Amino acid sequence: MTRFISNLAPWLAPLPLAYAVGMTLYTGLGWPLAVALLAAGIIETLSLATSSTALELYAYNRGKRKSDPGAPAWLAWSLTAAGLLSQSALILALEAAPVLLLFQVFSAAAVINLAMRADHTARLAQIVADKAQASADRAQRAADKAQAAAAPVQVWKYVCVACGKGYDKQQQLAAHMRSHVRAETNGHKGTEKAMIL
Ligand SMILES: [Zn+2]
Repeated sequence: MTRFISNLAPWLAPLPLAYAVGMTLYTGLGWPLAVALLAAGIIETLSLATSSTALELYAYNRGKRKSDPGAPAWLAWSLTAAGLLSQSALILALEAAPVLLLFQVFSAAAVINLAMRADHTARLAQIVADKAQASADRAQRAADKAQAAAAPVQVWKYVCVACGKGYDKQQQLAAHMRSHVRAETNGHKGTEKAMIL
């Protein structure tokens, strides 16, 4: 409930301002009431739309990868600021109570509040994503370990008793054994030679 109000309240902040601007146009300029309120509604909706766009572009720029193109958030922020300034100018020009400027401050605070909330939501989402990634990595490592443990050990049919080398076929082992014998014979020859010399 608090969350719902926190999300809604910033969007309601400009409503008193819209009413004040409308009444100023009505009494100050003598516009018909319907037209004055419509004009005020358009001004406030436009300013809400620009702030909302600015917030979206801001959130996008914060969350985008380095390779993604940047969004012109500065332009949307400039439009938002220009909107707030023109409303202030309108209020002052129509000699409305300067206290209405306070509502401008409320509106600006509302927009900043929304920006912070959007930012924080993105931070929380990032933390959740990081945790999920870490957990997936851990699961992958555990799976790799289990697979390595379950890998069958190579069992050879024929194993050389002298050095432990394994072979599939008896002929292969026989050929290998002959190489042992050759090496030994050469060794003996070498020894005999050494003895003769
Ligand atoms: Zn061997």
